[in-house]
Amino acid sequence: MNTQIPFAALGLAESLLRAIAETGYTAPTPIQAQAIPQVLKGGDLLAAAQTGTGKTAGFTLPILHRLLETPLRQAKAGRPRCLILTPTRELAAQVEESVRTYGKHTPIRSMVMFGGVNINPQIGALRKPVDILVATPGRLLDHAQQKTVDLSGVEILVLDEADRMLDMGFIRDIRRVLALLPKQRQNLLFSATFSDEIRELARGVLDNPAEISVARRNTASELVRQSLVMTEQAHKRDLLSHIIRESGWHQVLVFTRTKHGANRLAEKLVKDGLTAAAIHGNKSQAARTRALSGFKEGKVAVLVATDIAARGIDIDQLPHVVNFELPNVPEDYVHRIGRTGRAGSEGSALSLVDRTEIKYLNAIEKLIKRPIDRTTIEGWTPPAGAAESFAAEEREPRPPRRGSAPGRPQGQARRAAPGEAARRGGARGSGQGGRPGRPARSGNAPAGSRRDPARA
Ligand code: AMP
Repeated sequence: MNTQIPFAALGLAESLLRAIAETGYTAPTPIQAQAIPQVLKGGDLLAAAQTGTGKTAGFTLPILHRLLETPLRQAKAGRPRCLILTPTRELAAQVEESVRTYGKHTPIRSMVMFGGVNINPQIGALRKPVDILVATPGRLLDHAQQKTVDLSGVEILVLDEADRMLDMGFIRDIRRVLALLPKQRQNLLFSATFSDEIRELARGVLDNPAEISVARRNTASELVRQSLVMTEQAHKRDLLSHIIRESGWHQVLVFTRTKHGANRLAEKLVKDGLTAAAIHGNKSQAARTRALSGFKEGKVAVLVATDIAARGIDIDQLPHVVNFELPNVPEDYVHRIGRTGRAGSEGSALSLVDRTEIKYLNAIEKLIKRPIDRTTIEGWTPPAGAAESFAAEEREPRPPRRGSAPGRPQGQARRAAPGEAARRGGARGSGQGGRPGRPARSGNAPAGSRRDPARA
Protein backbone atom coordinates (compact mmCIF):
# COMPACT_ATOMS: atom_id res chain seq x y z
CA MET A 1 0.00 0.00 0.00
CA ASN A 2 2.88 2.35 0.70
CA THR A 3 4.46 4.31 -2.09
CA GLN A 4 8.14 5.07 -2.57
CA ILE A 5 8.02 8.79 -1.70
CA PRO A 6 9.15 9.41 1.88
CA PHE A 7 7.08 11.68 4.13
CA ALA A 8 10.04 14.05 4.36
CA ALA A 9 9.75 14.78 0.61
CA LEU A 10 6.24 16.20 1.00
CA GLY A 11 7.33 19.45 2.60
CA LEU A 12 5.59 18.99 5.95
CA ALA A 13 6.79 20.79 9.08
CA GLU A 14 9.40 19.09 11.21
CA SER A 15 7.02 18.85 14.19
CA LEU A 16 4.59 16.89 12.02
CA LEU A 17 7.28 14.59 10.63
CA ARG A 18 8.30 13.80 14.19
CA ALA A 19 4.73 12.84 15.10
CA ILE A 20 4.46 10.70 11.96
CA ALA A 21 7.68 8.91 12.80
CA GLU A 22 6.32 8.20 16.28
CA THR A 23 3.22 6.52 14.83
CA GLY A 24 5.52 4.09 13.03
CA TYR A 25 4.40 4.97 9.49
CA THR A 26 7.28 4.50 7.11
CA ALA A 27 5.88 6.08 3.94
CA PRO A 28 2.76 7.89 2.79
CA THR A 29 -0.13 5.82 1.46
CA PRO A 30 -1.19 6.62 -2.15
CA ILE A 31 -3.96 8.98 -1.02
CA GLN A 32 -1.52 10.80 1.25
CA ALA A 33 1.11 11.08 -1.48
CA GLN A 34 -1.48 12.71 -3.74
CA ALA A 35 -3.58 14.73 -1.32
CA ILE A 36 -0.88 16.27 0.87
CA PRO A 37 0.82 18.33 -1.90
CA GLN A 38 -2.58 19.47 -3.23
CA VAL A 39 -3.80 20.65 0.13
CA LEU A 40 -0.49 22.35 0.89
CA LYS A 41 -0.89 24.37 -2.32
CA GLY A 42 -4.09 25.82 -0.88
CA GLY A 43 -6.51 24.81 -3.63
CA ASP A 44 -9.78 22.92 -3.38
CA LEU A 45 -9.78 19.15 -3.59
CA LEU A 46 -12.24 16.45 -4.59
CA ALA A 47 -10.93 13.09 -3.44
CA ALA A 48 -12.32 9.62 -3.99
CA ALA A 49 -11.03 7.60 -1.10
CA GLN A 50 -12.51 5.18 1.31
CA THR A 51 -11.87 4.68 4.93
CA GLY A 52 -8.86 2.42 5.38
CA THR A 53 -6.77 4.19 2.75
CA GLY A 54 -5.13 6.60 5.18
CA LYS A 55 -7.29 9.52 4.01
CA THR A 56 -7.57 11.07 7.48
CA ALA A 57 -3.86 11.76 7.68
CA GLY A 58 -4.12 12.79 4.01
CA PHE A 59 -6.04 15.89 5.02
CA THR A 60 -5.14 16.45 8.68
CA LEU A 61 -1.38 16.62 8.09
CA PRO A 62 -1.42 19.36 5.42
CA ILE A 63 -4.13 21.25 7.33
CA LEU A 64 -1.97 21.27 10.46
CA HIS A 65 0.94 22.45 8.33
CA ARG A 66 -1.04 25.31 6.81
CA LEU A 67 -2.37 26.49 10.15
CA LEU A 68 1.14 26.37 11.62
CA GLU A 69 2.49 28.42 8.72
CA THR A 70 0.03 31.25 9.21
CA PRO A 71 -0.45 31.65 12.96
CA LEU A 72 -3.06 34.19 14.06
CA ARG A 73 -1.85 37.16 16.04
CA GLN A 74 -4.77 36.81 18.38
CA ALA A 75 -6.92 33.71 18.52
CA LYS A 76 -10.53 34.24 19.57
CA ALA A 77 -12.51 31.83 21.73
CA GLY A 78 -14.88 29.45 19.92
CA ARG A 79 -13.79 30.65 16.47
CA PRO A 80 -12.19 27.72 14.60
CA ARG A 81 -9.95 28.16 11.58
CA CYS A 82 -10.70 24.73 10.20
CA LEU A 83 -14.02 22.88 10.25
CA ILE A 84 -14.18 19.14 9.56
CA LEU A 85 -17.70 17.76 9.12
CA THR A 86 -18.28 14.02 9.46
CA PRO A 87 -21.43 11.89 9.25
CA THR A 88 -21.12 10.05 12.57
CA ARG A 89 -20.02 10.65 16.10
CA GLU A 90 -17.54 7.79 15.98
CA LEU A 91 -15.87 9.15 12.88
CA ALA A 92 -15.78 12.66 14.38
CA ALA A 93 -14.08 11.31 17.51
CA GLN A 94 -11.55 9.34 15.50
CA VAL A 95 -10.71 12.20 13.16
CA GLU A 96 -10.12 14.48 16.13
CA GLU A 97 -7.95 11.82 17.73
CA SER A 98 -5.88 11.80 14.52
CA VAL A 99 -5.58 15.59 14.67
CA ARG A 100 -4.26 15.26 18.22
CA THR A 101 -1.87 12.46 17.28
CA TYR A 102 -0.35 14.25 14.30
CA GLY A 103 -0.47 17.66 15.98
CA LYS A 104 0.97 16.61 19.32
CA HIS A 105 4.23 18.55 18.85
CA THR A 106 2.40 21.68 17.69
CA PRO A 107 0.41 24.33 19.56
CA ILE A 108 -2.69 23.66 17.38
CA ARG A 109 -5.83 23.15 19.47
CA SER A 110 -8.64 20.88 18.39
CA MET A 111 -12.08 19.99 19.63
CA VAL A 112 -14.75 17.46 18.72
CA MET A 113 -18.51 18.00 19.01
CA PHE A 114 -21.43 15.70 18.31
CA GLY A 115 -24.97 15.15 19.50
CA GLY A 116 -26.30 12.59 21.95
CA VAL A 117 -24.18 13.95 24.78
CA ASN A 118 -24.57 16.90 27.14
CA ILE A 119 -23.93 20.15 25.28
CA ASN A 120 -22.57 22.04 28.30
CA PRO A 121 -19.01 20.67 28.33
CA GLN A 122 -18.82 21.61 24.63
CA ILE A 123 -20.02 25.12 25.43
CA GLY A 124 -17.34 25.28 28.13
CA ALA A 125 -14.64 24.16 25.67
CA LEU A 126 -15.76 26.77 23.14
CA ARG A 127 -14.98 29.51 25.65
CA LYS A 128 -11.33 28.89 24.80
CA PRO A 129 -9.60 29.30 21.44
CA VAL A 130 -9.88 26.32 19.08
CA ASP A 131 -8.11 25.94 15.75
CA ILE A 132 -9.62 22.74 14.34
CA LEU A 133 -13.21 21.80 15.05
CA VAL A 134 -14.43 18.32 14.10
CA ALA A 135 -18.22 18.10 14.21
CA THR A 136 -21.32 16.29 13.10
CA PRO A 137 -23.70 18.70 11.36
CA GLY A 138 -26.68 18.63 13.76
CA ARG A 139 -24.84 19.53 16.93
CA LEU A 140 -22.77 22.12 15.11
CA LEU A 141 -25.98 23.86 14.03
CA ASP A 142 -27.27 23.75 17.63
CA HIS A 143 -24.14 25.59 18.71
CA ALA A 144 -24.40 28.03 15.84
CA GLN A 145 -27.98 28.81 16.82
CA GLN A 146 -26.98 29.37 20.44
CA LYS A 147 -24.07 31.48 19.19
CA THR A 148 -21.65 29.38 21.20
CA VAL A 149 -19.55 28.80 18.09
CA ASP A 150 -18.45 31.43 15.57
CA LEU A 151 -17.87 30.05 12.07
CA SER A 152 -16.88 33.36 10.49
CA GLY A 153 -13.18 32.57 10.79
CA VAL A 154 -13.17 29.23 8.96
CA GLU A 155 -10.34 29.13 6.45
CA ILE A 156 -10.52 25.43 5.59
CA LEU A 157 -13.61 23.23 5.31
CA VAL A 158 -13.47 19.43 5.06
CA LEU A 159 -16.49 17.32 4.17
CA ASP A 160 -15.39 13.84 5.18
CA GLU A 161 -17.31 10.81 3.92
CA ALA A 162 -19.60 13.16 2.06
CA ASP A 163 -21.45 10.27 0.42
CA ARG A 164 -22.49 9.00 3.82
CA MET A 165 -23.60 12.44 4.90
CA LEU A 166 -25.91 12.56 1.91
CA ASP A 167 -27.10 8.98 2.55
CA MET A 168 -27.97 9.98 6.08
CA GLY A 169 -30.00 12.96 4.93
CA PHE A 170 -27.62 15.71 6.06
CA ILE A 171 -27.75 17.73 2.85
CA ARG A 172 -29.95 20.49 4.31
CA ASP A 173 -27.80 20.72 7.43
CA ILE A 174 -24.69 20.94 5.28
CA ARG A 175 -26.22 23.78 3.27
CA ARG A 176 -27.13 25.59 6.46
CA VAL A 177 -23.56 25.23 7.72
CA LEU A 178 -22.15 26.44 4.39
CA ALA A 179 -24.26 29.58 4.67
CA LEU A 180 -22.48 30.42 7.94
CA LEU A 181 -18.95 30.18 6.51
CA PRO A 182 -16.90 32.93 4.90
CA LYS A 183 -16.96 32.80 1.09
CA GLN A 184 -13.18 32.77 0.82
CA ARG A 185 -11.91 29.44 2.05
CA GLN A 186 -10.23 26.19 1.03
CA ASN A 187 -12.61 23.24 0.58
CA LEU A 188 -11.79 19.55 0.67
CA LEU A 189 -14.39 16.92 -0.12
CA PHE A 190 -13.76 13.22 0.53
CA SER A 191 -16.16 10.58 -0.64
CA ALA A 192 -16.01 6.84 -1.25
CA THR A 193 -18.17 7.18 -4.37
CA PHE A 194 -18.83 9.94 -6.88
CA SER A 195 -22.57 9.73 -7.39
CA ASP A 196 -24.53 12.44 -9.24
CA GLU A 197 -25.51 13.90 -5.85
CA ILE A 198 -21.87 14.12 -4.78
CA ARG A 199 -20.94 15.80 -8.07
CA GLU A 200 -23.74 18.30 -7.52
CA LEU A 201 -22.63 19.00 -3.97
CA ALA A 202 -19.03 19.33 -5.17
CA ARG A 203 -20.07 21.85 -7.86
CA GLY A 204 -21.75 23.97 -5.21
CA VAL A 205 -18.93 23.82 -2.68
CA LEU A 206 -15.63 23.47 -4.53
CA ASP A 207 -13.87 26.04 -6.63
CA ASN A 208 -11.86 24.58 -9.50
CA PRO A 209 -10.85 21.53 -7.48
CA ALA A 210 -8.02 19.13 -8.14
CA GLU A 211 -9.43 15.63 -8.42
CA ILE A 212 -7.69 12.61 -7.01
CA SER A 213 -8.75 9.05 -6.71
CA VAL A 214 -7.11 6.04 -5.13
CA ALA A 215 -7.80 2.41 -5.80
CA ARG A 216 -11.08 1.34 -4.35
CA ARG A 217 -10.89 -1.01 -1.49
CA ASN A 218 -12.19 -3.82 -3.67
CA THR A 219 -9.18 -3.61 -5.93
CA ALA A 220 -6.74 -2.89 -3.10
CA SER A 221 -8.01 -5.52 -0.72
CA GLU A 222 -5.88 -8.48 -1.72
CA LEU A 223 -4.91 -8.63 1.91
CA VAL A 224 -8.46 -9.56 2.91
CA ARG A 225 -9.26 -13.27 2.65
CA GLN A 226 -12.88 -13.38 1.58
CA SER A 227 -15.02 -16.46 2.04
CA LEU A 228 -18.64 -17.41 2.53
CA VAL A 229 -20.71 -20.19 3.98
CA MET A 230 -24.11 -21.04 2.55
CA THR A 231 -26.51 -21.65 5.41
CA GLU A 232 -30.07 -21.10 6.58
CA GLN A 233 -30.97 -17.82 8.23
CA ALA A 234 -32.28 -19.82 11.21
CA HIS A 235 -28.87 -21.45 11.72
CA LYS A 236 -26.68 -18.40 11.40
CA ARG A 237 -26.57 -17.49 15.07
CA ASP A 238 -25.50 -20.94 16.21
CA LEU A 239 -23.07 -21.26 13.34
CA LEU A 240 -21.41 -17.95 14.08
CA SER A 241 -21.13 -18.76 17.74
CA HIS A 242 -19.52 -22.10 16.81
CA ILE A 243 -17.04 -20.51 14.40
CA ILE A 244 -15.95 -17.83 16.86
CA ARG A 245 -15.47 -20.33 19.67
CA GLU A 246 -13.79 -23.03 17.63
CA SER A 247 -11.48 -20.65 15.80
CA GLY A 248 -10.59 -18.79 18.98
CA TRP A 249 -11.32 -15.42 17.41
CA HIS A 250 -10.73 -12.69 19.94
CA GLN A 251 -11.67 -9.61 17.93
CA VAL A 252 -14.40 -9.82 15.34
CA LEU A 253 -16.69 -7.16 13.94
CA VAL A 254 -20.04 -8.60 12.86
CA PHE A 255 -22.43 -6.73 10.58
CA THR A 256 -26.18 -7.15 10.73
CA ARG A 257 -28.72 -5.38 8.57
CA THR A 258 -30.95 -4.12 11.39
CA LYS A 259 -30.53 -2.70 14.88
CA HIS A 260 -32.94 -5.28 16.26
CA GLY A 261 -30.93 -8.06 14.65
CA ALA A 262 -27.72 -6.63 16.14
CA ASN A 263 -29.21 -6.71 19.64
CA ARG A 264 -30.53 -10.22 19.34
CA LEU A 265 -27.30 -11.60 17.96
CA ALA A 266 -25.21 -9.99 20.69
CA GLU A 267 -27.56 -11.42 23.31
CA LYS A 268 -27.28 -14.89 21.83
CA LEU A 269 -23.48 -14.75 21.76
CA VAL A 270 -23.38 -13.60 25.37
CA LYS A 271 -25.66 -16.50 26.27
CA ASP A 272 -23.16 -18.81 24.59
CA GLY A 273 -20.37 -17.53 26.82
CA LEU A 274 -18.77 -15.06 24.44
CA THR A 275 -18.17 -11.42 25.27
CA ALA A 276 -20.26 -9.45 22.84
CA ALA A 277 -21.87 -6.03 22.52
CA ALA A 278 -24.07 -4.33 19.97
CA ILE A 279 -23.55 -0.85 18.58
CA HIS A 280 -26.17 1.03 16.59
CA GLY A 281 -28.04 4.29 16.31
CA ASN A 282 -30.60 3.51 19.04
CA LYS A 283 -27.90 3.22 21.66
CA SER A 284 -26.94 6.14 23.83
CA GLN A 285 -23.62 7.71 23.02
CA ALA A 286 -22.27 6.46 26.34
CA ALA A 287 -23.24 2.86 25.51
CA ARG A 288 -21.68 3.13 22.04
CA THR A 289 -18.46 4.56 23.39
CA ARG A 290 -18.32 1.90 26.11
CA ALA A 291 -18.88 -0.93 23.61
CA LEU A 292 -16.33 0.44 21.19
CA SER A 293 -13.62 0.99 23.77
CA GLY A 294 -14.26 -2.47 25.28
CA PHE A 295 -13.81 -3.91 21.81
CA LYS A 296 -10.66 -1.93 21.10
CA GLU A 297 -9.15 -2.91 24.43
CA GLY A 298 -9.90 -6.58 23.84
CA LYS A 299 -12.43 -6.87 26.69
CA VAL A 300 -15.25 -7.47 24.22
CA ALA A 301 -14.44 -10.13 21.61
CA VAL A 302 -17.42 -9.58 19.32
CA LEU A 303 -18.86 -6.23 18.30
CA VAL A 304 -22.13 -6.48 16.40
CA ALA A 305 -22.86 -3.38 14.36
CA THR A 306 -25.13 -1.95 11.71
CA ASP A 307 -23.48 -0.31 8.71
CA ILE A 308 -24.01 3.25 9.77
CA ALA A 309 -22.92 2.73 13.37
CA ALA A 310 -19.77 1.06 12.10
CA ARG A 311 -18.74 4.04 9.99
CA GLY A 312 -15.55 5.43 11.29
CA ILE A 313 -14.72 2.50 13.52
CA ASP A 314 -11.01 2.44 13.01
CA ILE A 315 -9.16 -0.40 14.61
CA ASP A 316 -5.63 -1.11 13.60
CA GLN A 317 -5.21 -4.68 12.48
CA LEU A 318 -8.79 -5.78 13.06
CA PRO A 319 -8.40 -9.47 12.18
CA HIS A 320 -11.96 -10.58 11.35
CA VAL A 321 -15.11 -9.18 9.81
CA VAL A 322 -18.29 -11.23 9.49
CA ASN A 323 -21.30 -10.40 7.38
CA PHE A 324 -24.11 -11.97 9.34
CA GLU A 325 -26.34 -10.83 6.52
CA LEU A 326 -25.15 -9.58 3.19
CA PRO A 327 -25.82 -5.91 2.64
CA ASN A 328 -28.32 -5.20 -0.12
CA VAL A 329 -26.15 -2.37 -1.42
CA PRO A 330 -23.04 -4.03 -2.88
CA GLU A 331 -20.75 -1.08 -2.09
CA ASP A 332 -21.52 -1.62 1.60
CA TYR A 333 -19.87 -5.04 1.35
CA VAL A 334 -16.70 -3.32 0.20
CA HIS A 335 -16.93 -0.82 3.06
CA ARG A 336 -17.48 -3.61 5.53
CA ILE A 337 -14.57 -5.81 4.50
CA GLY A 338 -12.40 -2.69 4.32
CA ARG A 339 -12.53 -2.70 8.12
CA THR A 340 -9.99 -5.47 8.09
CA GLY A 341 -6.79 -5.83 6.11
CA ARG A 342 -6.14 -2.11 6.67
CA ALA A 343 -3.00 -0.25 5.87
CA GLY A 344 -1.04 -3.36 5.06
CA SER A 345 -2.15 -5.90 7.66
CA GLU A 346 -3.94 -9.14 6.80
CA GLY A 347 -7.57 -9.83 7.59
CA SER A 348 -10.44 -12.21 6.94
CA ALA A 349 -13.99 -11.47 5.88
CA LEU A 350 -16.55 -14.24 6.22
CA SER A 351 -20.14 -13.97 4.98
CA LEU A 352 -23.02 -16.15 6.14
CA VAL A 353 -25.36 -16.38 3.21
CA ASP A 354 -28.92 -17.64 3.12
CA ARG A 355 -30.42 -18.63 -0.24
CA THR A 356 -32.66 -15.55 -0.19
CA GLU A 357 -29.49 -13.43 -0.29
CA ILE A 358 -28.09 -14.91 -3.49
CA LYS A 359 -29.23 -11.89 -5.45
CA TYR A 360 -27.13 -9.66 -3.17
CA LEU A 361 -24.21 -12.05 -3.47
CA ASN A 362 -24.36 -11.89 -7.26
CA ALA A 363 -24.38 -8.09 -7.18
CA ILE A 364 -21.38 -8.06 -4.81
CA GLU A 365 -19.36 -10.49 -6.92
CA LYS A 366 -20.12 -8.41 -9.98
CA LEU A 367 -18.83 -5.31 -8.21
CA ILE A 368 -15.65 -6.89 -6.85
CA LYS A 369 -15.16 -8.72 -10.14
CA ARG A 370 -14.42 -12.09 -8.60
CA PRO A 371 -16.21 -14.96 -6.92
CA ILE A 372 -15.98 -15.24 -3.15
CA ASP A 373 -14.64 -18.61 -1.94
CA ARG A 374 -17.39 -20.98 -0.83
CA THR A 375 -16.39 -22.82 2.31
CA THR A 376 -17.96 -25.37 4.61
CA ILE A 377 -17.58 -25.55 8.35
CA GLU A 378 -16.42 -28.93 9.43
CA GLY A 379 -17.71 -30.45 12.62
CA TRP A 380 -20.82 -28.32 12.80
CA THR A 381 -24.36 -29.59 12.70
CA PRO A 382 -27.34 -27.32 13.34
CA PRO A 383 -28.73 -27.91 16.85
CA ALA A 384 -32.10 -29.66 16.95
CA GLY A 385 -34.97 -27.20 17.20
CA ALA A 386 -32.92 -24.19 16.02
CA ALA A 387 -35.26 -23.52 13.12
CA GLU A 388 -38.36 -23.75 15.33
CA SER A 389 -37.05 -21.43 18.00
CA PHE A 390 -35.86 -18.99 15.35
CA ALA A 391 -39.32 -19.01 13.76
CA ALA A 392 -40.95 -18.48 17.16
CA GLU A 393 -38.68 -15.54 17.87
CA GLU A 394 -39.39 -14.03 14.50
CA ARG A 395 -43.10 -14.12 15.34
CA GLU A 396 -42.50 -12.56 18.71
CA PRO A 397 -43.45 -8.87 18.72
CA ARG A 398 -40.62 -6.42 19.16
CA PRO A 399 -40.03 -5.65 22.82
CA PRO A 400 -41.31 -2.24 23.87
CA ARG A 401 -38.63 0.35 24.54
CA ARG A 402 -39.57 0.63 28.19
CA GLY A 403 -41.40 -1.59 30.66
CA SER A 404 -41.72 -5.33 30.69
CA ALA A 405 -41.07 -7.55 27.70
CA PRO A 406 -43.93 -9.60 26.28
CA GLY A 407 -44.09 -13.38 26.85
CA ARG A 408 -41.42 -15.43 25.17
CA PRO A 409 -41.22 -19.02 24.08
CA GLN A 410 -40.33 -21.53 26.74
CA GLY A 411 -36.69 -22.22 27.28
CA GLN A 412 -35.56 -18.89 25.91
CA ALA A 413 -33.26 -16.94 28.17
CA ARG A 414 -34.13 -13.63 29.71
CA ARG A 415 -33.18 -10.78 27.42
CA ALA A 416 -30.06 -9.06 28.69
CA ALA A 417 -29.93 -5.27 28.52
CA PRO A 418 -29.93 -4.99 24.72
CA GLY A 419 -26.56 -5.90 23.36
CA GLU A 420 -24.56 -4.96 26.42
CA ALA A 421 -21.53 -7.08 27.15
CA ALA A 422 -22.61 -9.28 29.98
CA ARG A 423 -19.98 -11.84 30.76
CA ARG A 424 -16.29 -11.43 30.46
CA GLY A 425 -13.84 -14.09 29.48
CA GLY A 426 -13.28 -13.73 25.75
CA ALA A 427 -13.63 -16.30 23.03
CA ARG A 428 -12.69 -19.81 23.95
CA GLY A 429 -11.44 -22.34 21.52
CA SER A 430 -8.60 -24.24 20.07
CA GLY A 431 -7.79 -22.34 16.93
CA GLN A 432 -9.02 -25.36 14.99
CA GLY A 433 -11.94 -25.72 12.64
CA GLY A 434 -14.06 -23.01 11.09
CA ARG A 435 -11.68 -22.84 8.19
CA PRO A 436 -12.19 -23.25 4.48
CA GLY A 437 -13.50 -26.43 2.96
CA ARG A 438 -14.54 -27.16 -0.57
CA PRO A 439 -15.56 -24.33 -2.86
CA ALA A 440 -18.96 -24.91 -4.48
CA ARG A 441 -20.70 -22.49 -6.79
CA SER A 442 -24.18 -21.35 -5.89
CA GLY A 443 -27.08 -20.65 -8.19
CA ASN A 444 -27.73 -17.39 -9.92
CA ALA A 445 -30.54 -14.98 -9.27
CA PRO A 446 -31.05 -11.47 -10.65
CA ALA A 447 -29.02 -8.85 -8.89
CA GLY A 448 -30.84 -6.26 -6.85
CA SER A 449 -29.46 -3.33 -4.92
CA ARG A 450 -32.31 -1.34 -3.46
CA ARG A 451 -31.66 0.23 -0.10
CA ASP A 452 -33.50 -1.32 2.78
CA PRO A 453 -35.18 1.29 4.98
CA ALA A 454 -34.72 -0.96 8.02
CA ARG A 455 -30.98 -0.37 7.88
CA ALA A 456 -29.63 1.83 10.59
P1 AMP B 1 -8.07 6.07 7.43
O1 AMP B 1 -8.31 5.65 6.01
O2 AMP B 1 -7.72 7.48 7.55
O3 AMP B 1 -9.24 5.66 8.30
O4 AMP B 1 -6.78 5.27 7.98
C1 AMP B 1 -6.72 3.88 8.02
C2 AMP B 1 -5.61 3.35 8.91
O5 AMP B 1 -4.35 3.50 8.28
C3 AMP B 1 -5.50 4.03 10.25
O6 AMP B 1 -5.46 3.01 11.23
C4 AMP B 1 -4.18 4.76 10.22
O7 AMP B 1 -3.56 4.75 11.50
C5 AMP B 1 -3.38 3.96 9.21
N1 AMP B 1 -2.41 4.77 8.45
C6 AMP B 1 -2.59 6.03 7.98
N2 AMP B 1 -1.52 6.43 7.29
C7 AMP B 1 -0.63 5.41 7.29
C8 AMP B 1 0.68 5.22 6.72
N3 AMP B 1 1.25 6.17 6.00
N4 AMP B 1 1.29 4.04 6.93
C9 AMP B 1 0.69 3.07 7.66
N5 AMP B 1 -0.54 3.19 8.22
C10 AMP B 1 -1.20 4.33 8.03
